[in-house]
Amino acid sequence: MTSKLETVLLNIHNAAEAAGRAAKDITLVAVSKTKSSDAITSILNQGQRVFGENKVQEAAEKWPALRKKHDDIELHLIGPLQSNKTRQAIQLFDVIETVDRTKLARAIARISAEENKSVQCYIQINVGRENQKAGIAPEEADDFITLCRDELKLSVAGLMCIPPAGEDPKPYFILLKQIAARNGLGKLSMGMSGDYQAAIACGATSVRVGTAIFGSRPPAKE
Ligand SMILES: *Cc1c(COP(=O)(O)O)cnc(C)c1O
Repeated sequence: MTSKLETVLLNIHNAAEAAGRAAKDITLVAVSKTKSSDAITSILNQGQRVFGENKVQEAAEKWPALRKKHDDIELHLIGPLQSNKTRQAIQLFDVIETVDRTKLARAIARISAEENKSVQCYIQINVGRENQKAGIAPEEADDFITLCRDELKLSVAGLMCIPPAGEDPKPYFILLKQIAARNGLGKLSMGMSGDYQAAIACGATSVRVGTAIFGSRPPAKE
């Protein structure tokens, strides 16, 4: 029987091929938020190594033990980061995809130097200019990227976005790609269970897929 993970990997492969791209240039970030260590272990046992979590505390409870069993895990923070949790996030995660304000960027620069641990960063862009969503407004992106990269010397790999729900995401994916291109950034984290194939058609270099791999989650609290 084909597992959910295999189905997603096959879909990524096919979407890449249809876009004239190589599937190996697209990283699957398996989003394991709310999922138990047992559920994650089953996905690890199928060979998946890149995972995403949206809460520092939850990641701290699950991942140190999982990392003891597999030394080649790459963990991405994909949820909002409060500045007072920056040190813990730097200790736990390899990639922070949600750099979204100056205060946080400065905290990451300072604390990663103190911890002597470089962390790869993505800058989150609020592509739909939604009040309730985190991220830098598209028109402020160039200045913020310059600050992070040139002044704070963060390791900025690329950009991340979560398009508005219930709309065609493609124009937002294309906007993210344009902002990255004019700033010379190569990586685009965009696309979730409902739209990762569309994101790949628009140039995504990583897709963040939870439900399609792990099954549905309980409704989010807060
Ligand atoms: C939960 C989450 C995902 C995965 O969503 P699915 O629809 O379950 O694939 C991707 N990105 C972010 C930022 C998330 O919080």
